[in-house]
Amino acid sequence: MFHTFKKIKKAIFSKTCDADLDPDFLNRCLDDPQVLVEITSRCNFACTYCSSSFKERKKVDMSLELFEHIVGQLPEITKKAVRLHIDGEPTVHPEFYTMARLVNEHGLPVALASNGSLLDPRFLDLDMDLVITLSTSAEEFSERHRKLDFGHYVDRVVDYVKKWTQKETTQSLTIQIIFDNNERNNQAYTSAKEEFLKSFARRSNLSGIPSIEKGPSRIFTKSPREHLEFSRQYLATRGLYPEKGKRKPCEPVESGFCDSPWKRLAILADGRVSYCCIDLSGGTVFTEPGEILSTGIKELWLNHPRIRQVRDNFLSQSITDEVCKTCLSAAPGNRRCVGFKTGRHDSGAG
Ligand code: SF4
Ligand code: SF4
Repeated sequence: MFHTFKKIKKAIFSKTCDADLDPDFLNRCLDDPQVLVEITSRCNFACTYCSSSFKERKKVDMSLELFEHIVGQLPEITKKAVRLHIDGEPTVHPEFYTMARLVNEHGLPVALASNGSLLDPRFLDLDMDLVITLSTSAEEFSERHRKLDFGHYVDRVVDYVKKWTQKETTQSLTIQIIFDNNERNNQAYTSAKEEFLKSFARRSNLSGIPSIEKGPSRIFTKSPREHLEFSRQYLATRGLYPEKGKRKPCEPVESGFCDSPWKRLAILADGRVSYCCIDLSGGTVFTEPGEILSTGIKELWLNHPRIRQVRDNFLSQSITDEVCKTCLSAAPGNRRCVGFKTGRHDSGAG
């Protein structure tokens, strides 16, 4: 699942290279990682800024049986909201609602990033923080889906938001408005987005007027947890991210650091386990197929020889996997350092 340029930029702090590159701090992170369970690697969109459509991995749905095996172990691994996506659009899974409910029944909230095309008002029952990535014009939308009618797509999201305003729910919504980095200073471009947002808010019965001109806009608050926020989503085009459906050439780097192997436990739809939330290729997988059925997930996460090796290598600025060499080539500066925030959750975008 796609991460925003802004989020990646935010994630790259030199602080991580200094104070946080302390093995004791990193080892404490192992006790409460962000867990991602990719319930499907299929997507009903083909956004030109995402490598999902490159199909570097088989597109499959996770079975409910495997999901149940995983979800029962989650409370002993994390206290954070569980993300149900890495690659793919989670709501295309026919059992999405059941799976999300199961997470809640195990005492954990869900964090979901979605393209919004299949939202169903019954999802409002879920304890879930939802990020919807929204296009604001038919032309922009055609870069994500060639056949789906833009008007119908927006209607669906409007309907969901309208019902959210009417219903008792614990859900918070974030609507990320796709924003072309090259148009940052183009007033006409920004004004068109603002006009779209005004119309969207009016049709959704929102009580305020959103604006993304100066930054994130939180316009409707039912309680501290139930809020709706509009923000900009700048698109990344380097490292692992393509531009207009093609990867930008880059020179992989040989040294660098990333704290994801301490903070991100990612389970792919086929049950293999990885240490990254932005690698859609499977290049950061550290278990064999089926290992998840014979060994506890916490044990795999803490002690699998391969991930221990990856961590040791990163601590000496050495990069184990090719995909990380490509990814870190996009990190600014000479230190090639990526650090992830350690909040309640950290959603990507659909
Ligand atoms: S360096 Fe590797 S683990 Fe870190 S974000 Fe990039 S691909 Fe993921
Ligand atoms: S960004 Fe999300 S919605 Fe778009 S192709 Fe990738 S996975 Fe699908």
